[in-house]
Amino acid sequence: MNLIDLSNSRRIGANSFYIEIGPFKLLVDAGIDPKENGFAAMPDFSLVEDYSLDYIILTHCHLDHLGALPVILRKQPQAQILASHASTILAPRMLKNSYNVMTKIKEELNVPEYPLYYPSEIEKLKEHFLPMPFSLKKEFIKNGSSINITFHPAGHIAGAVGVELQYKHRKIFFTGDVLFQDQLTLPGAKFPDGPFDTLILETTRGSTQRESLSNRETETNRLIETINHALSRGGSCLIPAFALGRMQELFAILEKARSDKKLSACPIYSSGLGMDLVDYLDSLSKKNFGPHFRRKTVHNLKVRPLPRKIRAGQDVPPGIYILSSGMVIPKTPSYYVAAAMLEHHHNSICFVGYCDPDTAGGKLLKAQQGDAFLFDDMDYVAPVRAHIHSFDLSGHADRDELLNYAQKVSPRAIVLTHGEESSRLWFDQELALLMPETKVIDPAPGVLYQV
Ligand SMILES: [Zn+2]
Ligand SMILES: [Zn+2]
Repeated sequence: MNLIDLSNSRRIGANSFYIEIGPFKLLVDAGIDPKENGFAAMPDFSLVEDYSLDYIILTHCHLDHLGALPVILRKQPQAQILASHASTILAPRMLKNSYNVMTKIKEELNVPEYPLYYPSEIEKLKEHFLPMPFSLKKEFIKNGSSINITFHPAGHIAGAVGVELQYKHRKIFFTGDVLFQDQLTLPGAKFPDGPFDTLILETTRGSTQRESLSNRETETNRLIETINHALSRGGSCLIPAFALGRMQELFAILEKARSDKKLSACPIYSSGLGMDLVDYLDSLSKKNFGPHFRRKTVHNLKVRPLPRKIRAGQDVPPGIYILSSGMVIPKTPSYYVAAAMLEHHHNSICFVGYCDPDTAGGKLLKAQQGDAFLFDDMDYVAPVRAHIHSFDLSGHADRDELLNYAQKVSPRAIVLTHGEESSRLWFDQELALLMPETKVIDPAPGVLYQV
């Protein structure tokens, strides 16, 4: 098997792998890097321009896996897209939002290549989708050879899958982004037991050691207590969250806390794409496409739109603010509300998922009380006075769970992906100790590996 990581960096960015196995030429994911703009945010598709792709496999609909799909399809119009039923429904909505953002910031940030694609190209995707069921082997044939492809539910978000490829006697497994534990709105991953020849392993949480006594339940309780404290001080609580998945899970957590009479009465604010996706997840739940989430959750919580006038430094009305983006990226609601709230003692900012260290979210997590914090996109400096907390409610598996899984499926080679350098290094070192027979590859972008 030949493999090229087309990512723009050896981090978590524009995820995309080229795989060549027998006569089959596949791409797994076509993402964009949320921290970059324009062509710099894209995978290097020039590396595959001489090949004719048969299939593009979409593991899930976060933009770091999906955002460049219309671009690669323009270059490779013969390719079919294999995606779970839920992903075929979510992908056009997520891409439409990304298109809107690109057109908005084209002038502002002077990115002449924006938008990277047009709505008509999003529409065109629909003709290329080949919906794949969960846990059912599908055979694809080319030039008399066949490959079996199986999608396994990966937890993480609705429609997310790990992908099993079998060509002749060779078995390859992509974890994609995975969460083994159950969430309120989505069951955990159900991955096969292997064995596999090659495992492509996500490493998001390689630098994060879970506190020994913490689990999702204790972390959820701690989050609710923290919210109650902020409210009792007369303050607010901002929870930055990814619009797809995390945000609806938070609504479900708050609804449960309220029905258990654990959450103080207060308004809950949210807005944008995440609220729109409430309807999508409701519909996917009714169709039994994976998630368990109902629209009535936001009605029960009386979620209201964000107040119109949010200004840097001017405190917001007391309440809970569940806003995207999860990493507090400039020009998103969580960025503006963080700039409004940060300098007021009674407020709390609660992070519940992964933040890239270079983003405002990552920097806030490292900030100390009294630091001067720069919201560079607004050219605004605020003293850090709000309480900043982090909760281990990530949509990604713990590093130890991933190590256990790697050992269980005993591959001859493991390819590391989707992690910062320090995370990949941790896996590299641990795997060398635990599985000395296994070859571990931390692929350099653009380099061809024979695995
Ligand atoms: Zn993801
Ligand atoms: Zn991802």
